[in-house]
Amino acid sequence: MEFISTRSADGKCFTASEAILKGLAPDGGLFIPREMPSLPADFSLSGGLWKAMYQAIAPFFEGDESEGDLEEICRSAFDFPLPFFRNGGRDTMELFYGPTAAFKDFGARFLAFTMEKLLKKRGESLTILVATSGDTGGAVASAFHGRENLSVKVLFPKGRVAERQRLQLTGWDGNVSSYEVDGTFDDCQKMVKDAFMDPELSGLSSANSINLGRLLPQMAYYVYASFLYKAIYGEEPVFIIPSGNVGNSTGAFWAKAMGAPIRKIVLAVNANRTIPDYLETGKYEPRQSIETLANAMDVGAPSNMERLFAMFPDWESFRSNVSSYSVSDDEIREMIRREWEENGHIICPHTACGEKVRRDHYADDCHTVVVATAHPAKFDTIVEPLIGRSVPIPSTLYEIMHKPSKAREIGTDYHQLFA
Ligand SMILES: *Cc1c(COP(=O)(O)O)cnc(C)c1O
Repeated sequence: MEFISTRSADGKCFTASEAILKGLAPDGGLFIPREMPSLPADFSLSGGLWKAMYQAIAPFFEGDESEGDLEEICRSAFDFPLPFFRNGGRDTMELFYGPTAAFKDFGARFLAFTMEKLLKKRGESLTILVATSGDTGGAVASAFHGRENLSVKVLFPKGRVAERQRLQLTGWDGNVSSYEVDGTFDDCQKMVKDAFMDPELSGLSSANSINLGRLLPQMAYYVYASFLYKAIYGEEPVFIIPSGNVGNSTGAFWAKAMGAPIRKIVLAVNANRTIPDYLETGKYEPRQSIETLANAMDVGAPSNMERLFAMFPDWESFRSNVSSYSVSDDEIREMIRREWEENGHIICPHTACGEKVRRDHYADDCHTVVVATAHPAKFDTIVEPLIGRSVPIPSTLYEIMHKPSKAREIGTDYHQLFA
């Protein structure tokens, strides 16, 4: 099994393990399989979630140095449930039962466990640098906490992340350190970039959402969910996916390309309209992001688009495979309120975008699954006033939020990270 860069189809080939340790291809492109593998002919749901995900990921590791570890990695990384909120074929798939209550736990944990095995075998160690303004940092910190041969430095801008998000970044000890930077998110990103460029520093790596190790689990849960859906309803589902950098939805497209029973994939975006505009005009115009209530989707230049363009290179093929609709902040508020009133179901602002797209564009008999990307308790300040009650916090989130804060306050000079 070989991987190539999205930017050089005839270029050098890499194994899955190499791609995971590198993150980005040497030419700046993203890793994609040279040829998309098919699902194993004997794929089965009978072993439960982690086993199904393992079967879906295994073809990507054929002949790889991590092949023999893969089953154990999946068993350890995917040790939480993926339930459906069932509503007669208008279901919601809840990806937020991991330690930090968002779908990013799947990818971050798989990446951390895979890197740990590889580094131990090679007798090497790495320091992961993450600049975060929200969800990513928490998922990465949690996933890498306690992993051997790895340490993590999380940077976030002082006074610019939500209180609950800050608590998820600062309660760690051991191999995870957090730094509250007296600056902006852009300053944090620049510090990370500068550190990578510094020839005196070595053994640094990243855990970006474009890493192949984060994408593969996001493919695998769509394989599991689509087979499960088909077993329950006898139909192939339409997945409606709240999207920003389109990593989650790229996973769904890979699952479909491998043969998973998926009828259609629909991207629900917030007021950042880059993809719906491209579908309408045929001109792809990445732009600055704008702030919305679904802030983990505030992306104007989606980083995984290179992978979607590798699958659907021209406007015609893109349009016949990808649908996307934009949802405003007012519509997000309305959906959170109505979904609670009509179905007794509390959803986060991101999931609300998916729900709005379902209600506007898909009839009741359409067999749709809205993907719930985060637990609503993470967005209490938005959700609670709309539904007039408090949202119970999942226990894992509660625990990390009640640990003493250990963040170090620093300026914008990256040398302070290594002092
Ligand atoms: C990251 C995130 C998204 C967007 O996912 P992409 O893979 O970037 O499209 C949506 N919702 C939540 C809650 C997220 O954390």
